[in-house]
Amino acid sequence: MEAVDKTNEAVDKTKEAEKKTDAQLTRQEMFHLLGQRIKDIQAEPAIEHDPENVLEVHNLLKYFPIKTGLFSHVTGYVRAVDGVSFNIKRGTTMGLVGESGCGKTTVGKTILRLNDMTAGQVLFNGIKIHELPKGELRKLRPKIQMIFQDPYSSLSPRLPIAEIIGEAVREHNVVPKEEMDDYLDQVMKQCGLQPYHKDRYPHEFSGGQRQRICIARSIALKPDFIVCDEPVSALDVSIQAQIINLMMDLQKELGLTYLFISHDLSVVEHISDTIGVMYLGNLVEYASKEQIFANPLHPYTEALFSAIPIPDPDYKMKRVILQGSIPSPANPPSGCKFHTRCAKCMEICSQCAPETKEVEPGHFVACHLYD
Ligand code: SF4
Repeated sequence: MEAVDKTNEAVDKTKEAEKKTDAQLTRQEMFHLLGQRIKDIQAEPAIEHDPENVLEVHNLLKYFPIKTGLFSHVTGYVRAVDGVSFNIKRGTTMGLVGESGCGKTTVGKTILRLNDMTAGQVLFNGIKIHELPKGELRKLRPKIQMIFQDPYSSLSPRLPIAEIIGEAVREHNVVPKEEMDDYLDQVMKQCGLQPYHKDRYPHEFSGGQRQRICIARSIALKPDFIVCDEPVSALDVSIQAQIINLMMDLQKELGLTYLFISHDLSVVEHISDTIGVMYLGNLVEYASKEQIFANPLHPYTEALFSAIPIPDPDYKMKRVILQGSIPSPANPPSGCKFHTRCAKCMEICSQCAPETKEVEPGHFVACHLYD
């Protein structure tokens, strides 16, 4: 009887707190709501694996605690990723776009469990990454790799290239010892590097060559899936094209699957098969490249895409200028998180968060305009 009373009390508390905007919530109410959301997602049934997909992400949540004071009391949470779901088919590339600070990189790192996830499900080839113990996860590491944004800081300055590329290959016994030298030569050639580069150090290479080394280090482990976190944004435009083309060639040759994180829409258009648009920790639109470029539905996507320069002097650009800056993920607006900047905002938008709907086959959007 006591347990039933407690449950009813918790339900009443949740209903009361849900009626308020984030700014009106007390700290206890906010903690109660977030805790309830985490519990609800943890209680969801396991998702079913489709063998066509390499990666399946369902309701991914990553909250970073904000600690203050001498005793590091948790006074709030940065909701960096707040319920993101998508699938990536084998041998394809999904582009993930959005402003800086929207949670793109956190999605990539959380999928690979470089960050511990708060809640949600991630399936890699049907394996539940979110439930894997550390030892099992380590065995899986070669199959899921990451290429980082900065080719300068992601390579150890003290190791020669052969060691940088070969260290993990040796650690995971990817090839027999006696074949190691030939294997490294082959991988380096695949990535446009010469075998005589093996004994050189990272400072002896240009930015583009360093990113080739990072790519070689990843593909040497024979991965199935690579998270590419803005791999060309630190490079010159001419070098960007070379690296993107190299990645596309390797994808064809090795059957790789990419999650390509970028804020550069022209690059994403070139390499992606499907595109997800993120805003303040949520995926607001997801569709094939063709659908999303021909018919962007979410007002945020429209604004982003209106900023793509068209190489035609007679073309008059119709830019949608977003007002204000991206709100803090520690204190996001109530309802639709985009309502403080949306030109099409309606009364319901500040009160109720929109659900993600499939507006046309394969085209998903979270916006009250499509209710
Ligand atoms: Fe704009 Fe409302 Fe749609 Fe949010 S739900 S994007 S505020 S129209």
